[in-house]
Amino acid sequence: ANNNNNNNNNKMWTDYVPKRKGGRRLKSIEDLVFKEWCALSEYLKHSTTPALKLVSKEKIVETGTRENQTDHEDHLMKWEAKALHGKWAKLLKIVDEDSSKWQRTAHLKPPTEALIIAAQDKALHTNWLGHYILKTGETTDKCRRCKKFAETVKHIVSGCPMLAQGVYCERYNQDFCDQYQLPRGQRWWEHKPESVTENESVKILWDFTLQLDRLVEARKPDILLIQKASGSNPQKITIIDIACPGITLAEKEEEKISKYQPLRMELERTWGGKAKVVPIVIGTLGALPKTLKGYLQELDIIINIQTLQKAVILRTSSIL
Ligand SMILES: [Zn+2]
Repeated sequence: ANNNNNNNNNKMWTDYVPKRKGGRRLKSIEDLVFKEWCALSEYLKHSTTPALKLVSKEKIVETGTRENQTDHEDHLMKWEAKALHGKWAKLLKIVDEDSSKWQRTAHLKPPTEALIIAAQDKALHTNWLGHYILKTGETTDKCRRCKKFAETVKHIVSGCPMLAQGVYCERYNQDFCDQYQLPRGQRWWEHKPESVTENESVKILWDFTLQLDRLVEARKPDILLIQKASGSNPQKITIIDIACPGITLAEKEEEKISKYQPLRMELERTWGGKAKVVPIVIGTLGALPKTLKGYLQELDIIINIQTLQKAVILRTSSIL
């Protein structure tokens, strides 16, 4: 996907940026050749052998000095300067610094990693890109699956109604069941969440439609965690909802919080105790909102963000 166009303007600078900055840390062949030229020209310049001095004088090898070399910072700046392909680089500045961590922790195959990075850079040959930018003869910019919306990377990974946009409840199930010592299948990937799991200290409702006296529109959160009252500690209710949007992470968190306020108030009124809403939002291409770690801390249990990030990335790569 990165080789759609050999034109230097469309070069994918991401490839040469370090992984911790969201790039692929590949070696640039141009850079390597340039470095060799520089080394050779310096060697000739300082040579005392008469024959080599002559070569130096003829200026056969002269392309510049080491100071002119491009380094990672240059590649990063060139990447960020790209109007379309650089959007991800700009996003990385406002999201959690661990948003690119999957490249070091998920151990994906190189082609899968390349696919996700190309999607982050919007460098996939979608109908929209072909029709408007590359002009490769696509007669429409519309999506091949739904035929209704423009086929952009964002549409494919987070908007198309014809492509599975799953929720990742199963993966949370393992963390919750382990840490509250609830029964679960021996092998987590075989474990389908029950509607209700319970022991003496907690009760968890999975994807459960609540029956309430008053009309509350949003009453089916992904997870409802009830930590039962014990001694002087009152009952604690946590409404957890999970979302994997394209790039509007903060808006999605806000949306989830306001969506479940009526349910939170109704549960406090009828069930007693304290209730709160915890949104868990992970971008389909791995971006993590800065607020996520704080929200996860509110859950009193440890949820492995890297495992969730990998699950989301793998789902996205299968959609792509
Ligand atoms: Zn579509």
